[in-house]
Amino acid sequence: MAAEHVEVLVLGAGIAGCALAHHLCERGVGPVAVFDPETPGAGATGRAAGIVTEQLWDPWDVEVTRYSKTEYARLAARWNPAAYRANGFARWTRDPAAARVLTDTADRLRAWGVPVAPLDAEELAHKVPWGRYDGLLGANWCPNDGVVAPSAIGEIYAESARVAGAEFLLGRPLGSFARTETGWALESGARRVIAPTAVVAAGAWSKRLLASVGHPVPLAPYRTQAAILRPSSPSGGDFPSVHDLDVDVYVRPEEAGRILAGDGTQLVEVDPTRFPTGGDDAFVEHLAATFADRFPGWADAELVRAWAGVCGSTPDRHPLVGPVPEATGLYTITGFNGFGVMRAGGAAERLAAAIASNQGTAEMERLRPVDPRRFRGPPPTFAPRPGFTLEGGDAPRF
Ligand SMILES: Cc1cc2nc3c(=O)[nH]c(=O)nc-3n(C[C@H](O)[C@H](O)[C@H](O)COP(=O)(O)OP(=O)(O)OC[C@H]3O[C@@H](n4cnc5c(N)ncnc54)[C@H](O)[C@@H]3O)c2cc1C
Repeated sequence: MAAEHVEVLVLGAGIAGCALAHHLCERGVGPVAVFDPETPGAGATGRAAGIVTEQLWDPWDVEVTRYSKTEYARLAARWNPAAYRANGFARWTRDPAAARVLTDTADRLRAWGVPVAPLDAEELAHKVPWGRYDGLLGANWCPNDGVVAPSAIGEIYAESARVAGAEFLLGRPLGSFARTETGWALESGARRVIAPTAVVAAGAWSKRLLASVGHPVPLAPYRTQAAILRPSSPSGGDFPSVHDLDVDVYVRPEEAGRILAGDGTQLVEVDPTRFPTGGDDAFVEHLAATFADRFPGWADAELVRAWAGVCGSTPDRHPLVGPVPEATGLYTITGFNGFGVMRAGGAAERLAAAIASNQGTAEMERLRPVDPRRFRGPPPTFAPRPGFTLEGGDAPRF
């Protein structure tokens, strides 16, 4: 079979792989080929809630997500205005310990330039009249946060890359992927593609793919769930995303007056090739109980559908973006710990710069907190523990 030679081979056409292809093409790196055994959006991207928030961990995260958000807003305005909306994001608690953490978080976020403000029960009730706020002890509000349609943003990136010359090889199983004398070689159906540089952007499937070429990284795929519900009186679609920290349920507006609710995250490793793709009864019951108790205005909402997707967790809950340890010409962009939609654009831009500069010092510095080479040796076994972290660094989760 004749081999086709490209400059960069991207494995995975989720939002991360498509954003990377876009940014490589923008920098004039090419030809680029993107391979996915399914179609763009078949992985976590097509199942995500699409909340984009700057209420994050550290300045790196904030900068990267702010970059993504600005880029999503610009691309959506040009190609698909429904794909991005700045609706703000409020998170609150009735728990005294969590309230103290919220206050500390707000101070820290403001020091990083994130416009977080406290809200009282009256202000919260005005923004989200479906909730009950007696006993409220703390609430943080960020007016610049937004929501995206993750698949639509992925498609815009893919289309932009295609127009710039990237080729997408989709919908056929992976035959083989291996390092050869001439570079990284991928076979799928009748195609054989060879590149000096390959990037594994295969979401939860990255663990197996990287291990298969002898370069395992610490990743734990886990399952997380969301649902769409139809309230009896339509929400109007114009309210902020909300997160009740005490019950760990978030809700965002959906089109046609519906709402999207989640966080049915399960803290156990799963096999991404075999996991239940529907929502569990326990998750749906937790949502129903939460609505009855905390959001009486949505208590009679009808379930439209519930589903699950798989994400990848890392031991320190930071992503893996950069060169794969001990591997020539192999990079990865994965391990987003459930925050990959909001980070993809910014992380892909930084990785594209690192590849284009052949790992220039300044470009690698911009990836330092997420460089996969921070983990050396055989990957440890660990339990996934992602989530909407409030704390900085690696402190306990609320
Ligand atoms: C219910 C739910 C809610 C979420 N909510 C949010 C949210 O509000 N905000 C947020 O930022 N994030 C959210 N996430 C997380 C987010 O979806 C992911 O972090 C993000 O989509 C990861 O993108 P990705 O491109 O890395 O991976 P994926 O989108 O999973 O893409 C990986 C791709 O790799 C392909 N692949 C598989 N095997 C191979 C192979 N052998 N070779 C090549 N390709 C392969 C798959 O087919 C898939 O298309 C949520 C996730 C879920 C499931």
